[in-house]
Amino acid sequence: MPGSSYLDWPFFEPRHAELAAEMEAWARQQLHEDDSEDVDEACRRLVRSLGAGGWLKYTIGGTAYGAAAEKIDTRALCILRETLAQHSGLADFSFALQGLGSGAITLFGTPEQKRKYLPRVADGSAIAAFALSETDAGSDVAALQCSARAEGDAYILNGEKTWISNGGIADFYVVFARTGEGDGAKGITTFVVDAETAGFHVAERLEVIAPHPLARLEFRDCRVPAVQRIGEAGQGFKVAMATLDVFRTSVAAAALGFARRALREALRRATSRKMFGQALAEFQLTQGKLAEMATGIDAAALLTYRAAWLRDRGERVTVEAAMAKMTATETAQRVIDAAVQIFGGLGVRKNETVERLYREIRPLRIYEGATEVQQLIIARGIIKAFQEQEQPG
Ligand SMILES: Cc1cc2nc3c(=O)[nH]c(=O)nc-3n(C[C@H](O)[C@H](O)[C@H](O)COP(=O)(O)OP(=O)(O)OC[C@H]3O[C@@H](n4cnc5c(N)ncnc54)[C@H](O)[C@@H]3O)c2cc1C
Repeated sequence: MPGSSYLDWPFFEPRHAELAAEMEAWARQQLHEDDSEDVDEACRRLVRSLGAGGWLKYTIGGTAYGAAAEKIDTRALCILRETLAQHSGLADFSFALQGLGSGAITLFGTPEQKRKYLPRVADGSAIAAFALSETDAGSDVAALQCSARAEGDAYILNGEKTWISNGGIADFYVVFARTGEGDGAKGITTFVVDAETAGFHVAERLEVIAPHPLARLEFRDCRVPAVQRIGEAGQGFKVAMATLDVFRTSVAAAALGFARRALREALRRATSRKMFGQALAEFQLTQGKLAEMATGIDAAALLTYRAAWLRDRGERVTVEAAMAKMTATETAQRVIDAAVQIFGGLGVRKNETVERLYREIRPLRIYEGATEVQQLIIARGIIKAFQEQEQPG
């Protein structure tokens, strides 16, 4: 509705609109895209600055450990990502990874683990990473091979992880390794591994279309004390999925932020660019594009904040988070592509905002579960619910 804000939707409480306004003011003042800066240095600087600004406390849970609330407020997390993404993809990345990389500790960590890591995540003095994927275990994550063998009061890790965001700059890595209590998903355990642990090293840095720190990691007889195990042995798959249930919805929010920025850029260009004696926005073909973009954004926002709201009510949101992530990332890709088209040649000029967004959005359709994986999650969820309704007991 023109004039009203999506923050007036019934999913939100007044504090959410206040938070969005505060973050918007902070981001306008603090965030400036600078493609010439070294990406590692930029991320370190952004984590420190997000910590000093008090924003990272929304990425963890537990006020005793420096969090904004006892539980992660999913709507706050989403609003912050959405706002950051409108200003800087790298700032959104740095913010999100603090949460994804420490989420297993917030959700399943011991009080000692929480005390050791979470306050440093919240103040930006430690950088976190989430190491689940392997070369032959991406979508099929239960096929992971990195192993952890119990030996005395420690585990010995051997194997590799790849596509690990913050790889190379993280101070600690939450690592999922095979401990063999059962087959596939039933034999995985979670560990937190400090970057300086002997036997751990960054084997290769990876470059992608929207640059951020990314690496392949190797573990060679890497001895991790048993106190660094997160949750029960054999429960690692559950830990990973519970973490993703929180952060997947926030990926949808980041996609929304990129899409909103693209629509704003497209409106600015379409209303000012003159051709054939009138503004581009006066042509009905352009209006059709703009209408599709705005409607797609609202539909994606409704799904995103439904998932966030349901989770904040304590409900399981596996299907709803998958719907939100799939719809928001796919919609954002279409919206941004339309914005590039509206910009014409300028749309593909390096470092034009829409060109940057075009690169930023692409990986979001792949990581934290590619679109096809979200489709499978949704379909399995609705088939199961149908069968339970049709054949109770
Ligand atoms: C920029 C970036 C950052 C990342 N950061 C991290 C990180 O921090 N930590 C981490 O652990 N991982 C990270 N990843 C890894 C990411 O989660 C994986 O890339 C993703 O899970 C897909 O795995 P894959 O690349 O092996 O592709 P594959 O699993 O080989 O998938 C290839 C294609 O097959 C499709 N597919 C899968 N299953 C089916 C099916 N049943 N039917 C039909 N098609 C199917 C997929 O959707 C995809 O399109 C990151 C990846 C990228 C690109």
